[in-house]
Amino acid sequence: MSVSEVHDLLERLCNLLRMEMRTFGLKFGLQPVQIEALTYLTQCNRYSDTPQAVTEYLGLTKGTVSQSLKVLEQKGLLRKQQDQQDKRIVHLTPTTKGKKLIEQSIPAKGLEAALKMTGSSKIRELKEILRATLRGMQHNNKRKTFAACHTCRFNEQHREGYICGLTQEPLSRQEIRLICREHQYPA
Ligand code: SF4
Repeated sequence: MSVSEVHDLLERLCNLLRMEMRTFGLKFGLQPVQIEALTYLTQCNRYSDTPQAVTEYLGLTKGTVSQSLKVLEQKGLLRKQQDQQDKRIVHLTPTTKGKKLIEQSIPAKGLEAALKMTGSSKIRELKEILRATLRGMQHNNKRKTFAACHTCRFNEQHREGYICGLTQEPLSRQEIRLICREHQYPA
């Protein structure tokens, strides 16, 4: 199969996933960008839950993201909290209502149904191929990786637990599964 064929297939899949997400969001009066921002905020860590990080992750303008965050806050799906140490920083935390909404939307029902008959070893293989492709594209485009903390070169495992080598702060078992804007793969 040629790279163009792979491109076409991925594009079709992404379109279908986006369409399903759009239909889901509209039931709650939400635009796709608003659902995408809320999804990201349910998956990111405490260093990555700022308006700037959402803007970088989605690759959109500051204005678009700021409008989207305002709508999410008005709908009670998100709340803003000032950082305890640095008052200039604002953290965006999904409310219980916001988290429940995203839990209902992921994974997309169409994808779940389509993969039902696929064995777990094939799904694992597919995941590895997609992960490697994503990593390659991020590297080539010089984009931030926004990957899970446990795969980061700064993640340190000590006897007492995990530490972020960049901030020297402890990380919980749950936090190392989250995505981070400072993430870097080992060389
Ligand atoms: S170890 Fe890496 S991914 Fe984890 S919090 Fe630190 S910089 Fe972020």
